[in-house]
Amino acid sequence: MVAYADFHRRSLVDRDGFWREQAALIDWHRPFDSVCDDSRAPHTRWFAGGLTNLCHNAIDRHLAERADQPALIYVSTETGQEQTYTYAQMHDEVQRMAAILQRLGVGQGDRVLIYMPMVPQAAFAMLACARIGALHSVVFGGFAAGSLATRISDAQPAAIVSADAGSRGGKIVPYKPMLDEALALSGSAAQVLLVDRGLAPMSRMPGRDHDYAALRDELAGAEVACAWVDATHASYTLYTSGTTGKPKGVQRDTGGYAVALAASMRHIFDARAGQVFFCTSDIGWVVGHSYIVYAPLIAGMATLMYEGLPVNPDAGIWWRLAERYRVTHMFSAPTAIRVLKKHDAALLREYDLSSLQRLFLAGEPLDEPTAQWIGEGLGVPVVDNYWQTETGWPILTIAQGVDSSPGRLGSPGFAMYGYDAALFDPASGEELTEPGQKGVLALKGPLPPGCLQTLWQDDARFEATYWHSIPGRQVYSTFDYATRDADGYYFILGRADDVINVAGHRLGTREIEESIAGHPGVAEVAVVGVQDAIKGQAALAFVVPRRSLSELGDTGGSQLVREIGARVDGHLGALARPRAVHLVSALPKTRSGKMLRRVIQAICEGREPGDLTTLEDPAVIEHLRARLEA
Ligand code: AMP
Repeated sequence: MVAYADFHRRSLVDRDGFWREQAALIDWHRPFDSVCDDSRAPHTRWFAGGLTNLCHNAIDRHLAERADQPALIYVSTETGQEQTYTYAQMHDEVQRMAAILQRLGVGQGDRVLIYMPMVPQAAFAMLACARIGALHSVVFGGFAAGSLATRISDAQPAAIVSADAGSRGGKIVPYKPMLDEALALSGSAAQVLLVDRGLAPMSRMPGRDHDYAALRDELAGAEVACAWVDATHASYTLYTSGTTGKPKGVQRDTGGYAVALAASMRHIFDARAGQVFFCTSDIGWVVGHSYIVYAPLIAGMATLMYEGLPVNPDAGIWWRLAERYRVTHMFSAPTAIRVLKKHDAALLREYDLSSLQRLFLAGEPLDEPTAQWIGEGLGVPVVDNYWQTETGWPILTIAQGVDSSPGRLGSPGFAMYGYDAALFDPASGEELTEPGQKGVLALKGPLPPGCLQTLWQDDARFEATYWHSIPGRQVYSTFDYATRDADGYYFILGRADDVINVAGHRLGTREIEESIAGHPGVAEVAVVGVQDAIKGQAALAFVVPRRSLSELGDTGGSQLVREIGARVDGHLGALARPRAVHLVSALPKTRSGKMLRRVIQAICEGREPGDLTTLEDPAVIEHLRARLEA
């Protein structure tokens, strides 16, 4: 085995040679002209001139060898459905879906918004878009009408694929009314394709709303060839939260993404064709895009797609599925493991998990007790990996296929091949090279294949947000604080911006603040993320009402708090609903009027708030403490 440090070094010093080799892991319809064209940095172009297709690489190219092998294993403990699609069946389903989209007028370069629960049709729709060169924009099913409308307005989709409802812990969550509201709010003229699961009644608008089952029947046997697109052709956008209320449409290419995923399956996940990958994320998140849909299929594996809770019908369900389907690789998030930890550890030992090689965890910091508990319970290595929606695949981890270094508790590991990681002082821009120094983790350009090309129709925001935040440097900022020890292991310390991480999901506190601020009874609001034993972080809202606290009284106060909760639910979804809303008479601000969210956060977590010299009114601190205790 080549020492990992050499592998990593080569990926940077012989960048073209390294990635040319990785590019051989996928099929090209026409070879590329250049490997890495960084002449318009930071808009790096990977494999320009090469023609390829993500769907071809995920499905068609496997048909000769594995047409009858499982590609998608679908299990829903919500509806009891359990179905396996072979590569040949996937090929058929995806072509029919592609034909339906074309029937609805979708062409190359058009956007298709996918607002779906975890059903196979969601994956068919993503792959069908890739097949015809349309861009998908998947919106997490837990988002409500307001979030959905913002994304529809930004993406301007030609079509939307949705369903009657999702289901969570047996509770039906109707999607169609939220979609109708979002369509009205955004004024979109998109065609709508509806998968009717028979879970909730749906109204349909003639001429706009189309029935998936009927069109699927009509288009049986449809053949839709893969559109050969340039490697730099955008394959999708995926919205993520940032420091402003407006979500960012992370845009990804085609060829670079396919190569990056294929390479990650080999080097990072040590996975091979014919094996079974079970990623418990949701297709609405980047982990779901990369490691439920594309990467396992590109690698010729079976991917297990699961709709349901990890504890329903009992906390052994994942391991039961792992046994039944001989899962070799599992990928989940620390929050889910912390939920399982509340249940009997014996459940982990009831099943034959001899097929399982490793458990990968990502999305939020992995605490040592959780890592130890699950590692000992399963008897397999637990591998932490750190990355972002923007990068599409891990930035920090231990590459299981090329590196036998041991993991170190509390650290995701080393910088992955292709990533030139460094720590910077965010105030001076100085690069920090001594072990243990704390700085902002940044990546020197060019970013490796698979990372974002830009933000959808907003090059200026892409450049300003990511590439100009560290003084005097043009480097990509992750907005995470980190340290590196003498052996090169990185430790992530938390965000350097107003983004919080609730149960592995990234939320912008500004988005929640904007939703709350719209309530007519609210004068001012601050939302902060505070430590939460299960979810990692939770949002707390501090609201200054328009009427004074004494005028409002207890009843008026409780009523306002309830309305604020319902408002966030309706706009953004239950995920964003603050754990508590505290009514206060003032918020801590500097004399120049800047809200000191970090001070609020420190008080909530029982820490000393630090330097308060810039505070306009020191009495506000005692007031906040008193309200928290009330
Ligand atoms: P998202 O784009 O939603 O995947 O969120 C990315 C952010 O989640 C990162 O910038 C980190 O703040 C956090 N994160 C993701 N993975 C890890 C990890 N393994 N350890 C610590 N933080 C993580």
